[in-house]
Amino acid sequence: MARVTEQPFELRKSEIQGRGAFATRQIRRGQRVAEYTGEHIDNDEADRRYDDEKMKRHHTFLFIVDDDEVIDAAVGGNDSRFINHSCDPNCEAVIEGKRIFIYALRTIRPGEELVYDYQYERTADHTAEDEEFYKCRCGAPNCRGSILAPPKKTRKPKPKKRPASAKKKRGGSTRRGKTRSASGR
Ligand SMILES: [Zn+2]
Repeated sequence: MARVTEQPFELRKSEIQGRGAFATRQIRRGQRVAEYTGEHIDNDEADRRYDDEKMKRHHTFLFIVDDDEVIDAAVGGNDSRFINHSCDPNCEAVIEGKRIFIYALRTIRPGEELVYDYQYERTADHTAEDEEFYKCRCGAPNCRGSILAPPKKTRKPKPKKRPASAKKKRGGSTRRGKTRSASGR
């Protein structure tokens, strides 16, 4: 049988939030599950598109590629944008050049929801309001209660791949979007 290359998951209602991505077959550890696609735009354009002050909860599909570039999966994005956050992830996002891929962290059984840890970066001006805005509802036993990364003290990730943890992007703007980005440089 030829190697299957089509999407190994389907979308349906998730207990975590909205629609989620659920494995339709066994996915092995290290397998590439999807590419996080969308329109590549700069930060100014992202700010123009999304005004966080008007959002009750973060719900954009932005993912930071590097200092200059953001992927907006609301435009030309695929089903990978529905992969939810969890504090107990079975997937991870990795930046490769200007592209972002989702990989399985362990064997995933058919029917399991695919999730990765967005780990929004905390900024120095972090407030209680931010904490509420980024409240986590993943339901994992080890849920830390927030989509924000745990307070600093994190070990350096292994340098072989660049794990794409979702950073809270705030450079000069007031945008508080679902903005995922790379760390571990
Ligand atoms: Zn959680």
